[in-house]
This record gives sequence, C-alpha cells and structure tokens, in this order.
Amino acid sequence: MGQHLEKPLEQARHILKSTFGYDNFRHHQAEIINALINGHDALTLMPTGGGKSICYQIPALIRRGTAIVISPLIALMQDQVDALKQLGIKAAFLNSTLRPTTQREIEQDFLAGSFDLLYMAPERLLNKHMLKLIDQCDIALFAIDEAHCVSQWGHDFRKEYQQLSMLHTRYPRVPRIALTATADQRTRSEIIEQLALQKASVFVNSFDRPNINYAIAETGNSRDALWRFIDENHAGDAGIVYCLTRKNVEATAEWLNKKGHTALPYHAGLSQDVRSRNQQRFLREDGLIIVATIAFGMGIDKPDVRFVAHMNLPKNIESYYQETGRAGRDGTPSDAWMTYGLKDVINLRLFTENSDAEEQFKRVMFQKTDAMLGLCELTSCRRQALLAYFGETLEQPCGNCDNCLSPPETWDATIAAQKALSCIYRTHERFGTQYVINILTGKDDERIQHNGHDKLSTFDIGGEHSGAEWRGIFRQLIAHGYLATDTEGYGVLKLTQKAWPLLKRNETPQTVMLRKLRKPSKAKKKKAAASIQALPPQDQELFEALRTLRTKLAKEQNVPPYVIFPDKTLTEMAIVKPVTESQMLDISGVGETKLSRYGKVFMNEISHTD
Ligand code: ADP
Ligand code: ZN
Repeated sequence: MGQHLEKPLEQARHILKSTFGYDNFRHHQAEIINALINGHDALTLMPTGGGKSICYQIPALIRRGTAIVISPLIALMQDQVDALKQLGIKAAFLNSTLRPTTQREIEQDFLAGSFDLLYMAPERLLNKHMLKLIDQCDIALFAIDEAHCVSQWGHDFRKEYQQLSMLHTRYPRVPRIALTATADQRTRSEIIEQLALQKASVFVNSFDRPNINYAIAETGNSRDALWRFIDENHAGDAGIVYCLTRKNVEATAEWLNKKGHTALPYHAGLSQDVRSRNQQRFLREDGLIIVATIAFGMGIDKPDVRFVAHMNLPKNIESYYQETGRAGRDGTPSDAWMTYGLKDVINLRLFTENSDAEEQFKRVMFQKTDAMLGLCELTSCRRQALLAYFGETLEQPCGNCDNCLSPPETWDATIAAQKALSCIYRTHERFGTQYVINILTGKDDERIQHNGHDKLSTFDIGGEHSGAEWRGIFRQLIAHGYLATDTEGYGVLKLTQKAWPLLKRNETPQTVMLRKLRKPSKAKKKKAAASIQALPPQDQELFEALRTLRTKLAKEQNVPPYVIFPDKTLTEMAIVKPVTESQMLDISGVGETKLSRYGKVFMNEISHTD
C-alpha cells in the first residue's frame, strides 16, 4: 500500500533502481514517464540505445492495467519478453509464432489482468477479436514502437500503422506513446499527423551516438582491409559486415572463416531455416560475425554488437546512420567502419540516375547521393557532418572519428584535375576510367594505339601519379561532381557543368583540393575483444570467467546472454568485485530480481577467481 502514497515520479525512480538496477534517468526519460503516468500522450525521438523501452515499461508498472506494446518486429518479441521476465516483470507476447492453444491461454491471462505488458504486431491489434478483448480490459497505455513505420516515404512503411489512429478514437482515455529512432523532421510530422498525436508532448533527443567511432576508408583491396580492421581491433567481438550482393556475402563469410573467425552469412537467398538459425546463433553466442546484405538488421536487437563494417557505400546517409547504429547499443565503445572505392561511387551515381522515379523524387535522391559521397570525401569531423545532416549542431569536432584522430592530408589537385578532364574531353567522352588513366600514364596499350590516342597531347602527361593515385583522383572528381558516368552502365566518363570552368584556364582560377591516399596502417599489435580492452589487465581474467558463467546460465534458460546481464554490468563487476548483496545491488544493471536469481553464483565466481 505504501507505494501508492509516493509521488508517481518517486515511485518511478524507485522502480528504476529496484527493478532495473539503474541509479538515474537518462535524457528525457523522467519527463516522458511523468507525462504517461499523468495520462498524457508522448512522442519520443531518441537514438538507438538511448533507453526508449524504459519510457513505457515503468509507466506500465505504475498505471493500472496492462500496457499494450505495438511493434512490427515479431522476431524480437520473444527476447524482449524474456528480458522483462528476467527482471521479474509480468510480460507476454501474442503473435503467429505461438501455437493456437498458447495464444488462447495468453488471451485468458490478459483478460484476467495477469500482465503488466503485452506485445503484439499492429495487424493483431486491429483484428476484431483482439479489439473486443481489449474493450474488456484495463489498459495502462499503448506504446507504438518503431513509429516511423507510418511513413510512406521510409523503407519500413507498414500500412497497418496508419490505422492505429483508431486507438485515439476508440480509447480516448488511454495515454499513447509513439517511439522512434528516426531523426528527420518530415517523419516526425507524419507520425503526429497519422497517429493523431497533435496533443502529445514531443521529446527530441540528440541523435549523437558518442560511443561509436566513425571511420571511412578508401582502400584498394577491401577484404584485406576488413581483415586488418577486425584482427587489430575486434578479435573475439560480435560484429556485422554488410555487403551489397549475395555472392559477396557468401564469399566474404567463407573468407573470414578461413581466416579463423566464425562468420555466418545472411541474405534473402538463403532458406528461412538457415537464416533464422544464423540469426539465432548471432544473438546467443559470444563473438560471432554476421556477413549480410541489408536484408539483415531490422529485427536485430543485440546490444553488444561491437562493430558494423560496410564493404560498399550505403545509398544515403539515413541508411548509413541506421545501419551503423546497430553497433554499441549498450553504450560501450564500438566501431562503424566502411571501405569504398571508385566502383562504388560510380554505382551509386548510376543507381540514382537510372531509377525510374518521378523527377521530383529523383532530385531528392540526387541530393541524398551527393550528401553520402560528401561524407566519404570529407576532411573534417564526420560526426559534425552527420549530425548537421540531421539538423543538429555539434560545436566542437568529436575526437572520435578517423578525421579527428588522424586528420587527412589534402593537396592542390587542380592541375591533375585539369589533365584528367582535358583527356576526357579530347577522347570525346567515350571511355571509362581505366582507359583514360592508361592514356594519362602513357601505357603501351593496343587499343590506345589503334585509336590513335598515343598521339594526343594528354598522352603520358600524368606519370607523376601512380595508377592507384589516379583512381583515387577520379573517384573524388566523380564524388565532387566534376565528372559523371553514362547512364547505360558502361562506366563511360562524362564532363559535367562543374567541369567546364576548370577546362577553360582563362576563367577565374579555381582550385580543387583532394584527399591524399591514406597509407594502410602498419600492422598494429593484435588487441583482444573491445569489451575486454576496456578493463585494466588484472581484471580481464575475471571478466572472462563472468562471461563464461553468463553464457552457461543463458544456455540453460535458452535466452540471449545479455538478458542475464549486459557487458557493462559484467565489466563493473570485474572491477568492483562485489562480494556482499548490498555491494552487488550497487552495480549498474543489478536489480532485486536479478540479485536473487544470480547474485550468489556471480559472487561465488568473483571470490573464487580472485
Ligand atoms: P532503445 O530501445 O532506445 O534502443 P533500450 O531501451 O534497449 O534502447 O536501452 C538501451 C540500454 O540502455 C539497455 O541496456 C537499457 O537497460 C539501458 N538503459 C536504459 N535506461 C537506462 C538508465 N536510465 N540508466 C542506465 N541504463 C539504461
Ligand atoms: Zn570527429
């Protein structure tokens, strides 16, 4: 009874500590929880890993009745509910993966008021039978997760989401919260409009992910570069490697396996069986790499992914941010690493060019492509540019991206650019990059002789740069919009409007500054997994022991290891070495239920390993 006398926010704070094991609210959590407890609607925009779930989970525990959580991600529900059960919270989900008898049982329990939270997909909620059940129950709130799915413009569009405005009409007294990690203004307005949230308080958080290090490298042999990146920074860590094609996925996974990393492929061409098996292993085992097309990710909620590697350019910055955002949801330092080359730049431009979208839509696509390429060729802080793209200002360079940590050198490439452009002009814009480079570097080439191009004034005028350097120059000239390629996909180089002033030397001089090719980093000493690196050496052994114990407990219950304790909690345990219950409760992520379930075994391990 005592709890009812507390002020709601104090009660929320108490639950944060006793159930979740955390001392303080983050970001706008307290305000959002307060709004819901008081029956108001809320719209929450928070980056991945920001802590959105607590915003509705705590009000679900405080308000009378069951909170209905609506999410399109059926595959996630089991783990979400398992994680809540580990915390001692009464939760369930209803979806088609359950047997009909189980579904009926859950419906009965729901009617009996047995759950604090019930997860379901929108199509389930909108079904007449379900609505009738809901009519008969006390509903604490509706949480509409992944709310950007209402947006017709986004790639996650779900038409059922647009019908969710009926919740407002049918249950006007039940507070609703919409949540998303999508940042842009247009999506935000669409959510408000489509879900009838005009009266909702809007909470917008910074979209920065400070624990993610961004690095974008132009590399010749991207597979070797990937290998070096993983081996030097992430031996033994879980990560995602994105490739463009299924073929590349298979080949890269196989190659990593040969190199001694366990890597599993994932793409739409694999059977449902294989896909879900690989996904499951990725979630349940420590230190696996998934090599995937972008088909992978939406249903993935693994908080301890330590790196996301892109072997190709994403289509736009939105995709890049979403995909890299799957790294480090638990707040521990993580890497977003990308490699790309001339071919990628050409392909991305072509893709935009050849889309059969309407003019207006195409213009937007062009802008997005330019922004993506601009981010790659940038010489200043990547994070500042990323956040600026989403309308946020970061005052100082971040100190946690490749450009901040080792500023790229630039050089005056005006003359090289003029040579390149003029060579294209003199060959009547009919050839691809390699051919033009061969002319510039004076290659002894039959085709060049046959075409008489060894007689051109631009023949052999570019010997001061190697072939690789010229490829870098062409890539950047395309990325910066001095050059385009033909739309038929043959890679024929065309001059753009922007190129002409450079060719006409008499006009106002214009300088072209380009990035210098980065030398591949010398082989660094191989480092251990990032989660262990964060620890002083003397505590690493204990951390490993705790991690092994966690894996064992997770296996026994058939749940992912992180629902027992996240890495962060294990790290803190390895440093603090709690041996009493009250010391254990002081560790972030240890609440009362987890203490009673796991306190003893972990304290046991700690006193034995030391
Ligand atoms: P999101 O849904 O926004 O991606 P989650 O709700 O999964 O993020 O939270 C990310 C992680 O942060 C989880 O491990 C969660 O337990 C933790 N977390 C949430 N709120 C807090 C807090 N106030 N203090 C410490 N950790 C928190
Ligand atoms: Zn930076």
